[in-house]
Amino acid sequence: MSFIPYSCQTITEADIEAVVAVMRSEYLTQGPAIPAFEARFAARHGATHAVAVSNATAGLHIACLALGVGTGSRVWTSPNSFLASANCALYCGAEIDFVDIDPVTRNMSLSALEAKLAAAKATGTLPNIVIPVDFAGLPADLQGMRQLADRYGFRIVEDASHATGADYLGKPVGGSTHADLTVFSFHAVKIVTTAEGGMVTTDDPALARKLQLLRSHGMTREPAEMEQSPEGPWSYQQTLLGLNYRMTDLQAALGNSQLDRLDAMHARRVALADRYDQLLDGLPLLLPARLPDRQSAWHLYAIEVDDSRTAVSRKTLFDTLRAAQIGVNVHYIPIHTQPHYRRLGFKPGDFPNAEHYYARAISLPLFPTMTDAQQDRAVDVIRGALA
Ligand SMILES: *Cc1c(COP(=O)(O)O)cnc(C)c1O
Repeated sequence: MSFIPYSCQTITEADIEAVVAVMRSEYLTQGPAIPAFEARFAARHGATHAVAVSNATAGLHIACLALGVGTGSRVWTSPNSFLASANCALYCGAEIDFVDIDPVTRNMSLSALEAKLAAAKATGTLPNIVIPVDFAGLPADLQGMRQLADRYGFRIVEDASHATGADYLGKPVGGSTHADLTVFSFHAVKIVTTAEGGMVTTDDPALARKLQLLRSHGMTREPAEMEQSPEGPWSYQQTLLGLNYRMTDLQAALGNSQLDRLDAMHARRVALADRYDQLLDGLPLLLPARLPDRQSAWHLYAIEVDDSRTAVSRKTLFDTLRAAQIGVNVHYIPIHTQPHYRRLGFKPGDFPNAEHYYARAISLPLFPTMTDAQQDRAVDVIRGALA
């Protein structure tokens, strides 16, 4: 029986031709494919600016730097996320903390955030940046977070690594209506891939320019941006400390070609998620939330084993699925329970909703080329295991 992965990339002949065309062209990096991909991505995501980067981790890092995060800054994120959502604060020398999740959406809880902000205000420890994560592709409660941001004076970096193509309040995720900056990932398992890659979107031209400088050594060739008068047409000046977080043209060409199919791939993910909802109905499982004001990108279809209705453990169900060649996974081990974060003072029990979710969670296979027959096979194994 063939193995069904939990996620896998979709590469077409058109994708391959787009990459080969760049290989035959003058530029492998810093060429025209980057701005073409950026412009197209920005337009599709309702943002005026998009800055391509080497990966979303790099994007989160320079998003924090662009907003002035440094030693003494405080950054809060969701514990139910990939490590990078929190590591970006540590790279900047900032202090990291977490806000527990809402058990239904599995995203950062708006009420927990509000309570934590009120407590932080009292002790003079308000965050500079909050990083909500659109877990599994479901947009976080950004409207409420924007109101809190305006009241308490923090900036929002949305980690939309799972949410390429998602909608919130009738608009694509990516503009600056709610978040100051939005970060997307193009890792191979994500919605659109460039193998490794990421994008930061914003409507703020000054922030966009700062991101461009930060991704390439903090170096400018624009005379108007120089601090010393240019010595000649060869002049470049480093005006801040940047990094080399550039995307290559090969990757941008792949991403641009993939964007041609974003809507079709999303439609297939939605259809598979709807089908999972129907096929798993009635089993002792908690299924992903459905909210009328937002459409998930369906990066993941994550279930929870409802231990109040079955004696079958998450581990047993997971092992049974893996033994049947169904490539399930678990997202996420709460970040604060990682050894590195325990050394910073966090401990199990700190964010109980994230820990409770993690203890029962399994991500089922979901990718655009998954067939109904493959999905039926996965569901049959789940039914058998829970019977
Ligand atoms: C994948 C992921 C990242 C990191 O993305 P890379 O492009 O691999 O650096 C960050 N945050 C979340 C939530 C992710 O899933």
